Amino acid sequence: MALLQAQRQIGLAATRAAAVLASAALLFGSASAQTRAEKYAAAAESIRTAGLRSEHAYKLLERLTTEVGPRLTGSPQAAAAVALTRAMMDELGFETWLEPIMVQHWVRGTESAAIVRLAGQKAPALAITALGFSVPTPAGGITAPVVEVRSFEELRALGPAVRGRIVFFNVSMDPTPMDTFQGYGGAVLYRSEGASEAARQGAAAVLVRSVTLRTDDHPHAGMVAYDPKLPKIPAAAVSTLGADALSALLKKAGSVEIRLELACRELDPTPSANVVGQIRGTEKPDEVVLVGGHLDSWDLGTGAHDDGAGCVQAIEALRLIRETGLKPKRTIRAVMFMNEEFGASGGRDYAAADRRKAERHIAALESDRGGFLPIGFGIGGTREQFARLEAWGDLLKPSGILWIGPGGGGADTGPLAASGTVLMGFVPDSQKYFDVHHSSLDVLSSVHPRELELGAIVMAIFAYVVAQEGI
Ligand SMILES: [Zn+2]
Repeated sequence: MALLQAQRQIGLAATRAAAVLASAALLFGSASAQTRAEKYAAAAESIRTAGLRSEHAYKLLERLTTEVGPRLTGSPQAAAAVALTRAMMDELGFETWLEPIMVQHWVRGTESAAIVRLAGQKAPALAITALGFSVPTPAGGITAPVVEVRSFEELRALGPAVRGRIVFFNVSMDPTPMDTFQGYGGAVLYRSEGASEAARQGAAAVLVRSVTLRTDDHPHAGMVAYDPKLPKIPAAAVSTLGADALSALLKKAGSVEIRLELACRELDPTPSANVVGQIRGTEKPDEVVLVGGHLDSWDLGTGAHDDGAGCVQAIEALRLIRETGLKPKRTIRAVMFMNEEFGASGGRDYAAADRRKAERHIAALESDRGGFLPIGFGIGGTREQFARLEAWGDLLKPSGILWIGPGGGGADTGPLAASGTVLMGFVPDSQKYFDVHHSSLDVLSSVHPRELELGAIVMAIFAYVVAQEGI
């Protein structure tokens, strides 16, 4: 009882103190007594309301994925996506331009893999897909025995025993980290570096277990990074169901042959562009707050989450700022980077462009983790810069942001850090991302209109307050 009374009294005192503070703020009309979150609460609410009413980001994504579809770097579809996203931003009345760049042009061609038992009895085809930049097999394919390994150590221990064979990296994503990007990071090494590690020991080709937590028959693509000092051997990803079947057959039969046929090839580099649209700042137009994603995608789906979502969220963030009548002091710019998937050259070219010399990018906010429900933001920069941006957490909370933590950056915006830009990363819930990532499942129907819009909303709010207040 006494305790409850004391608590009541403390509660009462706190209420009185708050009332005194509120009346002081009223008396002096002082902005300093008003928290920064309070100052922008009304603007944040109108952005959120306008976004949730319209779900306009999804309409943009629908156009990108149906009018263009997959956007492999260097492809005619990627060129069409450049034209379409610029047209979308022209329609919205932004100042737009293209920044021309040259990109690699790899084409997939036909591809297949079949298990061929040593006895000559044929087993069903395996669902595979060539890894980006893979060299082709000779016409008619490579038929060779398969050697399964579960780590680079296991591969090295086999020494020359893998010569002339197809090395099968059967390494699963670790399902235990809450952030699935951690599990991805552990397994993706075999996709990017497995081919050269196997070539070092004389292997003929590699098959890599798809990097996903789901067991299904959809192979997931990705890039192979060949070591230029070693022979380039064909590299493909196999579906998780296919990987399990192959592993089981190897255990049962002891020895299995595969015929792998890939007709992919690299063509000459081709002209492309980064696509830019902006709302010019009213007071400091040369200071830029960038929001963006990458326009190119893998070709098995339509790149709806990766990274159509990031592109349309950037456009939608600007549209929401304009629609709610806000006039940012600094320039807010949407950039659709080209060629993230084949080495992130679009981001490097953007940072190095002559045009950058007359500008100062104070912050660059990248969305490239899918269009799922927003949960947080990762922030780079110095400790002081981080602290100032972290303080916006209260403003973002009503729109669903749970935390602001260290991190930030991404393949496209990373190169801007060298000139002092603070990198910011949009973080949505990651549980489902790798189910669809780089596969035929990454299509519009895997994106939820409201979740996608909430991402655009929190990006718009954060970009706007940074454009007003700086860092
Ligand atoms: Zn991406």
